[in-house]
Amino acid sequence: MAASFSGSAKAEICRGMAQKRCCAQAACFGILLFCNSFGADGIRIITESQDLARNLPKMFKKAFGLEFDVQPDSDAAGKMNFQILKPEKIAVIMDAYGFDIRDTFCLHINLPVVEEDCCRAAFLKGAFLAGGSVTDPEKGYHLEFTTTHQAVARECYSLMEEVLGFCPKSAKRGGGHVLYMKQSEMISDFLTFLGAPVAAMGIMEAKLEKELNNRVNRRCNCDDANTSKVVEAAQEQLAAIRILQEKGLYQQLPLKLQQAATARTEHPELSLTELAAMMEPPITKPAMNHRLKKLIHMAQEATT
Ligand SMILES: [Zn+2]
Repeated sequence: MAASFSGSAKAEICRGMAQKRCCAQAACFGILLFCNSFGADGIRIITESQDLARNLPKMFKKAFGLEFDVQPDSDAAGKMNFQILKPEKIAVIMDAYGFDIRDTFCLHINLPVVEEDCCRAAFLKGAFLAGGSVTDPEKGYHLEFTTTHQAVARECYSLMEEVLGFCPKSAKRGGGHVLYMKQSEMISDFLTFLGAPVAAMGIMEAKLEKELNNRVNRRCNCDDANTSKVVEAAQEQLAAIRILQEKGLYQQLPLKLQQAATARTEHPELSLTELAAMMEPPITKPAMNHRLKKLIHMAQEATT
């Protein structure tokens, strides 16, 4: 199965995860605050990203020196389940972020963890990997990530807006707090910030392609409109010429008008400009228009 756009973006982000311990802790913080559950009674991370699944054990090892109590086989696919259940491990993790394990009902983004620029990026990478997705730009522009912790959503919003200049929108959905973006350029910039420039380029390419298609479509519609006008005018001229022939007036026409009538009869599809160029000597478009109008006028006189 081909990877989804979101899956490819996550794979790209995983390839560029920073190696520093401070960043590993920040990335794990993002993962924990945006994953399925993170509390005193346990940690549960469910992901469909094989790249994240491959990286999770390494990241937790580097950040805390800990292993998961439950983790999927290395060849697992679909929804993969990672858990830490042992209280002493959870205590180590809570302690690393300055939380007291007896008081974890209101988790928030502990600012010292995301103080350094490198760690801010790592934190948001983790948040996106665990709780985020980005829509295939062929279908629309939408990037979002969801947390169950209200304070985290608010603080993450401030971090993105004040510190990094991204302005996501926020919404509540079910029990979750969602931060989302709908502008192609912001999504593209944010993916670049997360270390996924290829996905970012995919967004901009899709946008350019859409704009180009729109322009071409407008152009075609415009041409169609012109074409039908040309066809209508030509039909009127041909009808007039037929009348003049039926009434025996054709042979009496001045040479210039005969020439115009012949050209139109032989080339019903040509525009005025093209017909004008065929005259001997060539004439202007208004002059050509004048000759054809004259034919129509004479035909009208002949029938009244
Ligand atoms: Zn760092």
